[in-house]
Amino acid sequence: MIKLEHVNKTFGNHQALTDLNVTFNAHETTAIVGPSGSGKSTLLRSLNLLERPESGLYHFNDQVIDFSHPLASKDVLSIRRKTGMVFQDYNLFPHLSVVKNVMEGPVQVLKQQPDAARQTAMDLLDKVGLADKADAYPGQLSGGQQQRVAIARSLAMDPEFILLDEPTSALDPELEAGVLRVLLALAQENDSMIVVTHNMEFARAVADKIIFVEDGRILFDGTPSDFFTKP
Ligand code: ADP
Ligand code: ADP
Repeated sequence: MIKLEHVNKTFGNHQALTDLNVTFNAHETTAIVGPSGSGKSTLLRSLNLLERPESGLYHFNDQVIDFSHPLASKDVLSIRRKTGMVFQDYNLFPHLSVVKNVMEGPVQVLKQQPDAARQTAMDLLDKVGLADKADAYPGQLSGGQQQRVAIARSLAMDPEFILLDEPTSALDPELEAGVLRVLLALAQENDSMIVVTHNMEFARAVADKIIFVEDGRILFDGTPSDFFTKP
């Protein structure tokens, strides 16, 4: 479980998050929706400590971080381990093959044996429908395929939560489908996911919970059926 209490984040004199209180449950998919510039990405990035709010509490299970104190690097490392971020623009290593992209973290960071890491990577590539692209390079893949590799790479680190920031917004609609299918499969396996998305169809179909953010505040926190039926 991830819980934020009274979290505030400013950029200069712009308040991006105001007194935010929210809980993200494990084994659920939460969709964060809302207008452009409302603070969705800042919220997501705060969960991975890519952004540092000035005040408030961050709970990750029993671990508590008080944003009003300097962050301890061991807390940052531990939170980064437990939260895998998937970016809008994939961020793959262009000089590494697809399977090496997926193996890199497990071998370099988790110190897994290369053979075992390769096997896990191949299983994950199979899961995202790209086992046949293992030896290709990112530049040879479509955007949708690259994003599926990025999801496999995130899963390879075995995070407790997967954070996805507009995972399909750089893709043409016809390339979106493969990525959405992968996310739907992960949701059905009860993986813990937090997805910033503009895709309301996806939010309605896949999310267990919707968070609607506007102007740095949460205006709705509840089920998709309530979100989509209430006036
Ligand atoms: P969203 O993801 O909902 O589009 P963001 O979280 O990216 O919104 O941004 C929220 C607000 O904070 C916007 O007004 C944006 O311009 C501002 N903002 C985000 N990141 C920065 C930054 N690094 N420096 C200054 N302002 C920022
Ligand atoms: P992209 O390859 O850019 O994602 P598509 O969304 O059209 O473009 O997907 C390409 C193909 O990969 C589709 O025909 C899709 O059915 C196939 N595919 C096979 N297995 C999977 C899977 N597990 N998840 C997603 N797509 C898959």
